[in-house]
Amino acid sequence: MSIDSDSGDRRERFKKLKDTATLPSPKGLAFAIILLTQQENVEVREIVRLVKSDPAIAGALLKFANAAKFGGIHIASLNQAIIRLGLPRVRQIVLGVSLLNEYRVGYCKAFDYKTFWAQSLAAAIAAQEVSSYINFSPEESFTCGLLAEIGRLALATVFPDEYGEILQAARQLPTKELLNLETQRFGIDHREVAACLLEDWGLPMIFLQAVEHHEFPDQANFPLGSGAHALTQAIHFATLLGKACVADITARWQLLPTLYHVGAQLGISVESMASTFDSVTATWQEWGALLEVSTPVLPSLSEIEALGPLFLKEQERRGKGQASNPVQLGVLIVSSNKSLLKDIRNELSKSNYAITETATLGLAPTGPGEGSEQLIIYDWVNGAHDAPDLAQAPRWGNDKRPRHFIALLPAGQEQLIPKAIEAGFDDYIQKPLSGVTLRARLLFARKVLCLHEGIQIEREGVLRNADAAAQTNRRLLLDALTDPLTGLPNRRYGMDRLEQEGSLASSRGLPLCCLMIDIDHFKAVNDTHGHDVGDRVLCQVAKILLRAIRKEDVVFRYGGEEFLVLCPATPHKAAVNLAERIREAVTSAYFGLQEPFFRVTVSIGMAAYDANDASVDAMTKRADEALYRAKREGRNRVIST
Ligand code: GH3
Ligand code: MG
Ligand code: MG
Repeated sequence: MSIDSDSGDRRERFKKLKDTATLPSPKGLAFAIILLTQQENVEVREIVRLVKSDPAIAGALLKFANAAKFGGIHIASLNQAIIRLGLPRVRQIVLGVSLLNEYRVGYCKAFDYKTFWAQSLAAAIAAQEVSSYINFSPEESFTCGLLAEIGRLALATVFPDEYGEILQAARQLPTKELLNLETQRFGIDHREVAACLLEDWGLPMIFLQAVEHHEFPDQANFPLGSGAHALTQAIHFATLLGKACVADITARWQLLPTLYHVGAQLGISVESMASTFDSVTATWQEWGALLEVSTPVLPSLSEIEALGPLFLKEQERRGKGQASNPVQLGVLIVSSNKSLLKDIRNELSKSNYAITETATLGLAPTGPGEGSEQLIIYDWVNGAHDAPDLAQAPRWGNDKRPRHFIALLPAGQEQLIPKAIEAGFDDYIQKPLSGVTLRARLLFARKVLCLHEGIQIEREGVLRNADAAAQTNRRLLLDALTDPLTGLPNRRYGMDRLEQEGSLASSRGLPLCCLMIDIDHFKAVNDTHGHDVGDRVLCQVAKILLRAIRKEDVVFRYGGEEFLVLCPATPHKAAVNLAERIREAVTSAYFGLQEPFFRVTVSIGMAAYDANDASVDAMTKRADEALYRAKREGRNRVIST
């Protein structure tokens, strides 16, 4: 991970940059708020007083406080919002919003400040939206998404002219080339600048890692299942979605397969992708209005898919084949008017259509293959004012191909046109029938059908691939992080989570406790009842633990017959109570496959994370010592340190 290996060297280069120019930083009021939130024993009242003078910051804090699920309570006062969010999160939000406000415009002509912030805001919202997939806090994900590209802004701010030249030169080139050019010119690239800035602003290490590596997440080599890996992937996805939000129709559409693919790696299924995308764009509008960032209204994901230039591709593909193998289109004519049928038949016989006739729509043949008509011409009989029941004739044939309905309307009855469209017809032709009009409308129908089919084919392909990838990735991830015997998270997951909870606890000043649980005399269980029964006991104890812990606790198999329960935001006394509850639950259960059933007990060592601890290992070590004491003092007991 380059962040560790060359971070010293990078800091040197960053320092040089800092010495030569003023880098982006929060200013004025925001700076004062950030300083204040860093003080110990600061009164919320004082922060409120400052925040009140900045409507954008105040609005953002209230919005965040209400977006977080605090038991559905509506938070109307800044005072409550700040208490709910906690100072570290307040600080991050203020930092992001103030940078946005300070650097809306700048001197680098080739840098599109407006698009930069619109895209960053969309990335922030997307990161927030997918935070649940990676088990990360939504507010922190937001900040991370918002600042993901801050290095680019920094270079544009410090070197407006030179960076402008580089941006021009790299306009059509891949990001890698831009990074090379930046390093050649400034000795540091935008990813490194971003990581250094975030470090300067006191943001957590995991933010730095995600921001530095989100453009090339696979090259970061973060272990699968680690927090850094997950956050980097999430920011990768979020910035891609941000890009899609500000792109033009064609580019946006072209980004979709990648978006599905990257989303799948996070575990976002194809079904959820539409709601994720639509929810991000809707929230983007709201935030755009709040922060005065221009956020155009976007179509829904399904509309983007349908409106994309897919049909061009499909036409091209078909066009190539058409010369040697013309596509015959099946036409069903619904009419009992013999002379009309004859006219249409004559007209269409000159082109490549396979014609079928029927007197009523409901009897329309819909079988697969040759007999399936995609184009239905319905003769609306003179004097019939009710629209035909198109529900009888589904929009898609049995062969899953789309169908196109044309109403043939009686002469001079224009009032039927809206009725036909409302009834679900795709097009209409007014009588008297003219051969030119009929052929032109059928040509148009061909194009529409072609468009539909193209979308269908492409979409199915994309969806199949993305779904398969999502499933495989979810399974791999789950397998890698699950203990196969008990189904609990394994040690690998647990240790990573422990680190994460440790850093969250220290950054937020919240208590954190852990319980080390070991089954008493388990060797004897194996010796007496056999290894299989031993395995079952482990599974049963795992179930008891899952039932006993609270929603916010995490339990994992630490090793053989040892389990670890992590209790975030839990004071010492509550953790001891939980341990006691667990101990009692195990003691009162019966184990074994058949009579005589037997009892099992556990010993528990409990420890709390201390502000002076260098790492969470210190806490687990104390829990282990407490467990050892519990064993020495007779087992079946809880000892806390
Ligand atoms: P103490 O009360 O001091 O903890 O005694 P103990 O017998 O529980 O502890 P010891 O460490 O001596 O033995 C633990 C046993 O757990 C030994 C090992 O064979 C058994 N064990 C570890 N993993 C598994 C497993 O997956 N399945 C089964 N059936 N047994 C296991
Ligand atoms: Mg043991
Ligand atoms: Mg034991």
